[in-house]
Amino acid sequence: MSTKVCVVGGGPAGLRAAEAAAAAGAAVWLFDSMPSVGRKFLVAGRGGLNITNTNKCFAEKYTGPGMPAEIWRSLLGDFPPESLRAWAEDLGIKTFSGSGGRIYPQEMKSAPLLRRWITRLRAQGVRFFPRHRWTGWHAGCGRRWWLDFLAPAGETAIDADAAVFALGGGSWPVTGSDGSWLEKFASSGVAVRPLAPANCGWETAWPEDVLRRAEGMPLKNIRARAGATSADGELLVTSYGLEGGVIYQIGPALRTDPVVSLDFKPSFSFDTLMARMPAAEKFHLHEAFERCRIQETARVLLLSRSSQWTSRETFAAGVKGFPIRLERPRPLAEAISSVGGVCWSELDHSLMLRKFPGLFVAGEMVDWEAPTGGYLIQGCFCTGARAGAAAANFK
Ligand SMILES: Cc1cc2nc3c(=O)[nH]c(=O)nc-3n(C[C@H](O)[C@H](O)[C@H](O)COP(=O)(O)OP(=O)(O)OC[C@H]3O[C@@H](n4cnc5c(N)ncnc54)[C@H](O)[C@@H]3O)c2cc1C
Repeated sequence: MSTKVCVVGGGPAGLRAAEAAAAAGAAVWLFDSMPSVGRKFLVAGRGGLNITNTNKCFAEKYTGPGMPAEIWRSLLGDFPPESLRAWAEDLGIKTFSGSGGRIYPQEMKSAPLLRRWITRLRAQGVRFFPRHRWTGWHAGCGRRWWLDFLAPAGETAIDADAAVFALGGGSWPVTGSDGSWLEKFASSGVAVRPLAPANCGWETAWPEDVLRRAEGMPLKNIRARAGATSADGELLVTSYGLEGGVIYQIGPALRTDPVVSLDFKPSFSFDTLMARMPAAEKFHLHEAFERCRIQETARVLLLSRSSQWTSRETFAAGVKGFPIRLERPRPLAEAISSVGGVCWSELDHSLMLRKFPGLFVAGEMVDWEAPTGGYLIQGCFCTGARAGAAAANFK
């Protein structure tokens, strides 16, 4: 008789785990608390879904406390970005490479891909159980498990030879990923770290004049530094602070020390800026703006501290490093992803919970993080593939 694998959570990690388990010959039942699966995946598709990336240093993008060295090299070795592209093409979804090596489905949406994926999973024999909220587990006879659910007909327990949990992080709870599983795992003795926002905007209290003149305006071609990390690109000044890919990338460092230093002219060195300004006795800020070609939004920010720029030197230093103290990240519910979750120390190489043989985890609920640009979905696919295949082969 084939192994019965229950997958709980129908995001990309759970769907991929179901696919891998079915391909390995298991009978797969997939449960989700929502009326349909893949809701966050659909949200991700609204802004042009990045499914993976062509970056050669892929494994280095993943960080997390206590993460085993080489784990991502191994996960990506089993299911590399090229395999994800081939997988999409096999579903009839063509992909293309955009800026920063980002790989998009041709239609820039996730709905067509998700529809075809579900159809194929059903054809593979995967059975779907929507509106089933997982509430706990307990051991059955032998090495079997009972999983508890709150279903439309009431409480129910389903038995399984092995299970994969892919319950997601804590952002966008409206999609079903509400992070409520964390407490249940913790009370079962699984070490977890609280979920916190990642890939998110940050708040700062702008002076009135900055808000009035710069809200909604971009800072283009800038470099943002935090601690030892930096990122180049674009930022948006918002009513609450700063938003955009650049601040997402340096988020891990900001969580340690929430001060970002903006370089408004990364292509000019300090000396180049100095050379552009006349060595006049009297320093004129507006003339310096013109001579150094400072963009409008940066001018507003620099003007808000104009008393500091009294010389060519102080001005050039301010352009190259404009520090902004941030207050906090935007709320978890708004973030693209979350950090925290099941600690790596709880997992073996197959992503099985050491304390609960036969129970596996995958996707964003594990304590790793990665920047936007396709690394998140790729990470969910890799971990889902490994956990699903291992669950199917669990004896
Ligand atoms: C606006 C936005 C844009 C994004 N864009 C990109 C992008 O372009 N590229 C990229 O790589 N990533 C992107 N992401 C991130 C990506 O969508 C997530 O990292 C990914 O969906 C996580 O997959 P997952 O399978 O781990 O969890 P999820 O997709 O969160 O799925 C978890 C599933 O578990 C179910 N669940 C939760 N609790 C229970 C329970 N108790 N019982 C039963 N079911 C439960 C949920 O209903 C949900 O269906 C984006 C995210 C957002 C919000």
